Amino acid sequence: MSLIQNLIRSLLPAKLAADMEADSKRWVLTCPNCNHVQSVWEIGGVRYKAFSKGKRTGIRCLNCKQWHMMPMTYQK
Ligand SMILES: [Zn+2]
Repeated sequence: MSLIQNLIRSLLPAKLAADMEADSKRWVLTCPNCNHVQSVWEIGGVRYKAFSKGKRTGIRCLNCKQWHMMPMTYQK
């Protein structure tokens, strides 16, 4: 777990922290190289509300270990 994730869990009320974790797990990044799908939470990030769909972010793929610009999408 990343530092920011630890901070959220220790500083925020349990309900809000759980909501943020759940939301971060619904935001997923698809690797254009190997098609591996990983959630924002899995890569140590946090994403909660107020963010737009389709934003591209430079992320290191957990599967092929390469850096790629990945489209971020929200899975309901
Ligand atoms: Zn990959």
